Amino acid sequence: MMLQGLQRLTLLDFPGKLACTVFTRGCNWRCPFCHNASLVLPNAFQAPDVSIDDFFQFLGKRQGILDGICISGGEPLLQSGIEDFILEIRDMGFQVKLDTNGTSPERLRRLSEGGLLDYVAVDIKNSLERYGETVGIPNYDTSAVEESVDFLLTGNQPFEFRTTVISEFHDAESFYKIGEWIHGNEPYYLQQFVDSGDLVGNIRLHPVDAEGMNHFKEIVSAYVPNVKLRGVQDLTPEEEESTCIKSSNATENLSTSTSKKFAVQY
Ligand code: SF4
Repeated sequence: MMLQGLQRLTLLDFPGKLACTVFTRGCNWRCPFCHNASLVLPNAFQAPDVSIDDFFQFLGKRQGILDGICISGGEPLLQSGIEDFILEIRDMGFQVKLDTNGTSPERLRRLSEGGLLDYVAVDIKNSLERYGETVGIPNYDTSAVEESVDFLLTGNQPFEFRTTVISEFHDAESFYKIGEWIHGNEPYYLQQFVDSGDLVGNIRLHPVDAEGMNHFKEIVSAYVPNVKLRGVQDLTPEEEESTCIKSSNATENLSTSTSKKFAVQY
């Protein structure tokens, strides 16, 4: 397991739970809008903020205080020791939420069917046709992601889907196609993009304003009635231009934490 960071308290990352979030290092995608370049790009890696020993020592002091642990990244399912890591967390009495990009369906299935996951959040980056450009890998083969989505849609694992909405990558057609793909009663969150200033891509990206977010929500709701918006604020043109400058504060508002270095990628 390669841990990179620890957010010692979050009221938002694990729905309905008092939790902490641990961030694993490394990802197999290069989403240009990713908040956490220093978790994803090897040339941006820094010395870890937390070791495995530190992490479990911290958990020992939080038994009876925290309900659960959110494991985020990077992409946690790339970590070869993820199963033992989760087992040790569960043995200490904590519930586990996993954030994943859906590229390791077999590992997801094994953990879920082994009863090791209380909640799973999977990113739906875009319509299948636009996945490659959205995850920074042209002509990306989406079959693994489709397998993960099918597994969750047809099984008993509690989960949610979520999409970070970006003006340059998403339009109405994206949401008609996403709706057709993931149709069901699961919770689905549309999250307004915020530029953290630590993005993976070098291109300038923009959020969609509240009116546009509501329009996309309306499109998807015909297929996924349980769709909600997350973190949406109305933006004037001036605010849109200055999103990058304001982003640190906005990102902090998404989570209550003692470490503001990383943000869960909704
Ligand atoms: S947004 Fe998630 S999947 Fe995309 S590069 Fe960042 S950590 Fe990886």
